[in-house]
Amino acid sequence: MPLNHNIIDRLHRDERVQLFEAVSAAGKSPYFATMRSGSGALTDVAGTDRVMLGSNNYLGLAQHPEVIEAAARAVRDFGSASTGSRLLNGTMHLHEEFEDEITHWFGTEQTLSFSTGYQTNLGTLWALLRPGDAVVVDQFAHASIRDGIRMSGATAHVFAHNDPDSLEETLSSAARSGAEQTLVVVDSLYSMEGSLAPIPEIAALARRHGAALMVDEAHGLGLYGPTRRGWAEECGSSGDVDVLMSSLSKATASIGGFITGSRELVNSLRVTARPMLFSTAAVPSSVAGVLAAVRIIRGEEGARRVEKLRANSRTLRAELERLGHPCGSGHTGDDWSPIVPVPVGDDLRAIEAWNMLMERGVYTGTAISPAVPAAGAILRVCVTSEHSEEQMLHAARAIDDVLGIVRADG
Ligand code: PMP
Repeated sequence: MPLNHNIIDRLHRDERVQLFEAVSAAGKSPYFATMRSGSGALTDVAGTDRVMLGSNNYLGLAQHPEVIEAAARAVRDFGSASTGSRLLNGTMHLHEEFEDEITHWFGTEQTLSFSTGYQTNLGTLWALLRPGDAVVVDQFAHASIRDGIRMSGATAHVFAHNDPDSLEETLSSAARSGAEQTLVVVDSLYSMEGSLAPIPEIAALARRHGAALMVDEAHGLGLYGPTRRGWAEECGSSGDVDVLMSSLSKATASIGGFITGSRELVNSLRVTARPMLFSTAAVPSSVAGVLAAVRIIRGEEGARRVEKLRANSRTLRAELERLGHPCGSGHTGDDWSPIVPVPVGDDLRAIEAWNMLMERGVYTGTAISPAVPAAGAILRVCVTSEHSEEQMLHAARAIDDVLGIVRADG
């Protein structure tokens, strides 16, 4: 028996593994489905074209000819790899051109790019925070934020989702604990809830308590604000964000992440963010692709695509609501988002609903615990600018149909 047998056995007994194996054995797993085409409005999932309502390709740029051509040209010009970490031989002219583009767009002093958004949060929080510091974080902040905090050894103080009163109380209790430095961290648009953070209130409270503010714009970048820099820009709060982070895997249709802010911040991260220092730099094709995508987003075409996305999101949400399925939380007034979470409740019912939607030609994401709270399973529906109004109406009716069945079954 190999020495590591017990350690693998213990992992295999983990309840997530057991659930995954059970649903896979029944041929019903909603996870790791095989995509046989690029992710467009219609995508070949497991051998059949379905309406793709589970991708983060919000503005359809993953299939844009200029993005594809830029990525292909970069492979021809620079090859397939960056062949080293940023610190050593992996910094190519393309990385610097991309970072300059972001700095100009955001009007900040400097930008540092990473190979993934996960690494960006992990490396930045790990580098910024020390044991003895307090980090005040929304209860639904992304896993990469929570993991970065854990790596740093700082004390996490969690406040209720998007709740300024809870934030204020939590900031006060963090101050009473004698923290050396305090950092407030929030997502702008929450990936499972589809809710938008009240950034002006959060920024004002952080300032009043002498805390710095970090905002993760992974899902807001390219969609909100007069120049599409994200939700903080739309809120008029850009100047209040000390550490602005984004992934590059959503509207910008690539992979990677960045931090933009002061020269002091970025130069410090350059030599302290371990997931960047000890991992290979983003490959030329991904950096060139994202640069092309950012340029499209910043132009007229970006504005047109956002308009279409907003219309699609509103059509889907309105039709679901008309059919008796209010979705999501935190949306007030005229706000909108491409993420439309449809509550189901029970994990197994959500998996059943997902399978029935596949049979009706619709692919959605689905989130069960621990990604969402227990009994809070959702169908995570994501709209893109590429969908037609007809596809939105078809999807809403298919969702209504399957929810009627799974709820009646229980
Ligand atoms: N932050 C948020 C809010 C996210 O939703 C994600 C990924 N879904 C990340 C960070 C990590 O980004 P990436 O996928 O580029 O690693």
